[in-house]
Amino acid sequence: MAQAQRKIPAPAVTPETKPFWDAAADGRLVIKQCTACGQSHHYPRTICPFCGSDATEWRPASGRGKVYNKTDLLKSARDKDAVYEHQEDTEQSVRVWGDTAVITALLWVSGKGAQDGKTFDYKLWFSDTYVRTSGGWRYVFGQASLPLPKAP
Ligand SMILES: [Zn+2]
Repeated sequence: MAQAQRKIPAPAVTPETKPFWDAAADGRLVIKQCTACGQSHHYPRTICPFCGSDATEWRPASGRGKVYNKTDLLKSARDKDAVYEHQEDTEQSVRVWGDTAVITALLWVSGKGAQDGKTFDYKLWFSDTYVRTSGGWRYVFGQASLPLPKAP
């Protein structure tokens, strides 16, 4: 029996996202970067999801980012690429727009790499996006900042 195709509407172009779509039409990938904390974020927002500053600007993507899919993450967990000894999130915020929710928090992790035995201890910002479906809220997308500089 064939499954019904789910129709996903194209994203709406808003004044906040128009520069992203204009650049994409020119074959360029641009992302928002916060000049206050230095973190990049996507989807495009005027307010930085990591520090709340409105000092954000468009920058061309460097091409050095990494995209991990579900298979990558499951393999990493099975291979125990990292052993986490501490994981704590603070400064959580939840924003809901219709059937979409974005959770942002400051995450502190420490542990060691299983392959190289090197220890790690850092904080980063993350945002997880959920969409409400007929079966409940479903995780669809996540992004994390680079490790933050150590506080003095
Ligand atoms: Zn920021």
